[in-house]
Amino acid sequence: MKKKDSQSNRRKFIANTLKLGTVLAAGTGSSVLAGKKATKEEDEKEKIKVLTTDGKVIEVDKPDDCKIHPCDPPGPKESRKGIPGRKFVYVVDLSKCANARKCIEGCQKGHNLATDTEWMNVFLMKDNPEGSPYWFPRMCFHCDNPPCVKVCPVGATYKRQDHLVLIDNERCIGCKFCLAACPYSVRIFNWEKPPESDLPKDKYSPETSVPAQIGTVSKCDFCADLARKGTLPYCVRSCPMGALYFGDENEDAVSNGTETRRFKPLIKERSGYRYREELGTMPNTYYLPPVDRMFDYKDGLKNIPEEKQKIYDDIINGNDQNYMQ
Ligand code: SF4
Repeated sequence: MKKKDSQSNRRKFIANTLKLGTVLAAGTGSSVLAGKKATKEEDEKEKIKVLTTDGKVIEVDKPDDCKIHPCDPPGPKESRKGIPGRKFVYVVDLSKCANARKCIEGCQKGHNLATDTEWMNVFLMKDNPEGSPYWFPRMCFHCDNPPCVKVCPVGATYKRQDHLVLIDNERCIGCKFCLAACPYSVRIFNWEKPPESDLPKDKYSPETSVPAQIGTVSKCDFCADLARKGTLPYCVRSCPMGALYFGDENEDAVSNGTETRRFKPLIKERSGYRYREELGTMPNTYYLPPVDRMFDYKDGLKNIPEEKQKIYDDIINGNDQNYMQ
């Protein structure tokens, strides 16, 4: 790809990112923010509450349900190349995550996953005895030095030029070496037959990870097909708190759908960090520390089953054990 084409592609991506933010902002805020009288349809549309960047809670229309396979993604061979000139990055603002778990639902719907298959997890964390607990979403970090890729004996998982790490399920032999190698435990083995897909097997793409196959490994793919289209991942689009951002480091821009921020200044100003950076994996996911939260972490407990809350007993009851190292 020539430099000019690459620049043009990047311009298109940022234009699409900004357009998406504008469309969402206009679609969600016009009747509220501009004081326009809402139509009957707008009145009837389901509302959700979101947190603005200046800390206000506002009501906006619930985004339309995620549609599966919005484009015709490339097949396994073409999917290995990636998109020239891009360096996709993900940012999680821990100060906004309230464990609404809508990111998990959006991901499952978008990737045709069973309801007990979570490519995205949200954990309750506490860094030290005096610290306040906070919610911590975790997905594949699409590392630049990925141990999972190094151990695959058949080249089924690979790193692309746009920095995404994908899996070709047609090549995967289910040996599980990659599961053992990933220090973040984000890979999942498909023990069960995945739910029926609306896509035939010959339409399989590592960019959508659909249709999935029993006996292979799967994980978060950063919604590579949507990135190709210049739109945001399902999880980012589903988060009612605006806690998740996705974008292109080369363009120095990330968006949560309602606001677009310069990536590097955001990381610098908010002291962004990468999880377990000392492992040398060079993740492409950044976390903004959970400061100045506007809600109690306990609100998020109601979204997980009571029996699962037991794993957090030490945190909830204030015991000084098992803190994140
Ligand atoms: Fe591989 Fe794990 Fe890094 Fe994802 S988070 S790229 S699965 S090592």
